[in-house]
Amino acid sequence: MKLEEVFASYKENIMPTYTKVPLVFVKGKGSKLWDIHNKAYLDFFPGWGVGNLGHCHPKVMQAVRDQVAKLIFIPNNYYHIPQARLAKELVYWSYPAKVFFCNSGAEANEGAFKLARKYGQGRYEIITFENSFHGRTLATLAATGQKKYQEGFSPLPEGFKTVKFNDLEAVKQAVSDKTIAIMLELVQGEGGINVASGDFVSGLRKLCAEKKLLLIVDEVQTGVGRTGKLFCYQHYGLTPDIMTLAKSLGGGLPIGALVVRKEIADTLGPGMHASTFGGGPVIARAALAVLKAVQKEKLLKNTRAMGEYLFTKLNTLKEKSPVIQEVRGLGLMAGVELNIEGKEVVEKCISQGLLINCTHARVLRLMPALNVTKKEIDKAIGILQNVLESS
Ligand SMILES: *Cc1c(COP(=O)(O)O)cnc(C)c1O
Repeated sequence: MKLEEVFASYKENIMPTYTKVPLVFVKGKGSKLWDIHNKAYLDFFPGWGVGNLGHCHPKVMQAVRDQVAKLIFIPNNYYHIPQARLAKELVYWSYPAKVFFCNSGAEANEGAFKLARKYGQGRYEIITFENSFHGRTLATLAATGQKKYQEGFSPLPEGFKTVKFNDLEAVKQAVSDKTIAIMLELVQGEGGINVASGDFVSGLRKLCAEKKLLLIVDEVQTGVGRTGKLFCYQHYGLTPDIMTLAKSLGGGLPIGALVVRKEIADTLGPGMHASTFGGGPVIARAALAVLKAVQKEKLLKNTRAMGEYLFTKLNTLKEKSPVIQEVRGLGLMAGVELNIEGKEVVEKCISQGLLINCTHARVLRLMPALNVTKKEIDKAIGILQNVLESS
């Protein structure tokens, strides 16, 4: 297909639900992408949080190729080895738990809501936060604390209460005898890269213990090494009751997972919840390769080192650039808040060969692959500096 034919087919045949950048990509490797004209781009927002290993990681490719030739799919009423191994790995690297596999972040969060309600035996209310993002299904939209995503879709499912982020008092006020859980992203992604404070999170943990509530962390974006620990909750010295994962866990293939503390994991019994494709052999092999690569290639260490380097560079840029208001984030999850609209900055960066994102209108979001190099960061910062100087 030629470029024009691709655009034409999308226009004719695909629902217009995405704001699109007019680029057609054909190939990727690490932090590099090539478009249909063979122009190379530096990808500092690979897959919207999916590409923690960058594009086409060789070990993921190898695992998928190997599994595809053996057994592509077997449903969840039977057993297979890749899922058994993947669950064991996830539990080994997190906390005593049991896992449920599904296909996406929203689906993982839906599972968490169902488990919480079942566990609650009449208590059903879940407290979430302003500027959170938990997905696009009706219940996850109800949980998402951003009106712009909810408009036009009412009535949304009941039982969600949204309060101010990083405000423990507000949470305490919101807890009622109907409350069963508190759910948060420890670093809000879509909401503008807002980091939960240590006091806030340990306060939540304490409150949950007092009121017998479940603490649910949505690690769909922060998980699998993004913040410099395998899971973001590990920065906070506590364990959640439920963690949801998706995005980067499959190395580019779709997967979601619910990691539930052992004591409550049997709340959902046979027949109460299911997902046809969840944790199939191919995707499980891909995820195993991802977890192995994170360890073997010391990507957590690299994330911390490169994160520090990136933040130093961004802060230096801030001194020089009057349009930068604040730089914030954790590990390789960086937000650059501007005092101008970010849309044009992103467009200019893309035209100069750097792919980044803008969220919450004014926050540039940089989330390079965890194996990013200093040289690639230098190049990205050079382009960003160029663009900001002309903004
Ligand atoms: C992307 C995201 C989701 C939704 O994941 P999907 O796979 O798109 O359903 C949920 N929570 C967070 C924190 C996310 O970043």
